Amino acid sequence: MKLKTGDKVMVIAGKDAGKESRIARVFPDKNKVLVEGVNTAKRHTKPTGQTMQGGIIDKDMPIDASNVMIICEKCGPTRIGHRIDDKGKHRICRKCGGDL
Ligand SMILES: [Zn+2]
Repeated sequence: MKLKTGDKVMVIAGKDAGKESRIARVFPDKNKVLVEGVNTAKRHTKPTGQTMQGGIIDKDMPIDASNVMIICEKCGPTRIGHRIDDKGKHRICRKCGGDL
């Protein structure tokens, strides 16, 4: 899993293809990511407790990590490469070589 929470990504497959948003959560064991406002499903909920309201809520569902591409500030959607130096491993843009 090369992606991490907070990454800006573009969806490249599925019903939300073309959308740009941020990763809210990653699920490395499932190779899935939860992207804000992407793959939103309507969920029916029952009221629980005193503060929760019942009804229909929009809930973002995780999508496959292969369905998103990270966005480089210079190049747009790109693939993630790696650069290793004495400080450790860095994620870089494969197009321009800049840090992601
Ligand atoms: Zn780039």
